[in-house]
Amino acid sequence: MKVAHNFNAGPCVLPKPAVAAAIDALQDFKGTGMSVIEVSHRSKEWEAVMEECRTLWKEILGIPEGYKVLFLGGGASMQFLYVAMNLLEKKAGYLETGVWAKKALKEAKGFGEAVAIASSADKNFSYIPKGYQIPSDLDYFHITTNNTIYGTEIKEDMDCPVNLVADMSSDIMSRPVDVSKYALIYGGAQKNVGPAGVTFVIVREDILGKVSRYLPTMLDYRTHIKEDSMFNTPPVFSIFVMNETLKWIKANGGLQAVHKMNVDKANLLYNEIDRNKMFEGTAAVADRSLMNICFVMTEQYKDKEEAFMAFAKERGMVGIKGHRSVGGFRASVYNACPVDSIKALVDCMQEFEKLNA
Ligand SMILES: *Cc1c(COP(=O)(O)O)cnc(C)c1O
Repeated sequence: MKVAHNFNAGPCVLPKPAVAAAIDALQDFKGTGMSVIEVSHRSKEWEAVMEECRTLWKEILGIPEGYKVLFLGGGASMQFLYVAMNLLEKKAGYLETGVWAKKALKEAKGFGEAVAIASSADKNFSYIPKGYQIPSDLDYFHITTNNTIYGTEIKEDMDCPVNLVADMSSDIMSRPVDVSKYALIYGGAQKNVGPAGVTFVIVREDILGKVSRYLPTMLDYRTHIKEDSMFNTPPVFSIFVMNETLKWIKANGGLQAVHKMNVDKANLLYNEIDRNKMFEGTAAVADRSLMNICFVMTEQYKDKEEAFMAFAKERGMVGIKGHRSVGGFRASVYNACPVDSIKALVDCMQEFEKLNA
């Protein structure tokens, strides 16, 4: 089989054992003689997977009492509206740190007053705003912990005077999180915890039921809490692979261990970006993401960008083109990205420097 060094931003590389388990289950799910995509979602075999997956979420993240874990459809983008619809009565605040944050804010505006409390738009979202005040009259304050496109990350769980809501699509399960500091955490699975098709929501139950608007059944978190995420047919295959991905995280020692691996992996690449005279990072050093590493060619070598892209591609690098709003390169180095892939990219940058600088 062809070897690819997969740096795609999402969907992206998944743990090999999770993919292998998915292949097995597609053939025969738990000895039922049926594929996992053929069995009833009301069967005891399937319900056991749902329960195991919820339990792993709670165990790995250390989710306290009072919170529910939901598996929904619609992606993180659907949560932009869910959050506002279920929580926004008068006013919500958003930290504007990139395209995803802006999209979340735009949806909220349809449900009430929603404002950007601080923004890093002035420098193309290359840093995380600091020193801003969060008004105490907000229904909630929304942050995007990892800005997938710009490679910036909020690496600490902030203290917040109001309900804190976080889009953790691209850094969930990459580090330990103090869930008790958040009222709601959500994200699409397809960056660190599984394939596309399932959306995770961790919600503190007591924040719900406070808005006066009508909530359609499917768009009311309480529906999915009551029915254990089985109000309608859940995305069974995606949940199956998510469950296997969580088992892999647990087998690797949990989030402390995974975080250490992520720090080591990211440092490997950032060190090369800082050392190599042909490249430079685009994100403020203090806010550099451990998940999405953005870099460009320095002024002197700007004309070599395409050449490097071709050079890297020839050596098996996949998905390193930067998002069009940043340009240059982006290597997404999620949990399952092997250190060998990062070493291969670093080698590639060193070789290219030898030949061109
Ligand atoms: C990818 C991404 C999204 C969008 O997720 P979908 O599941 O495709 O809707 C939202 N927020 C962040 C931070 C992302 O990285």
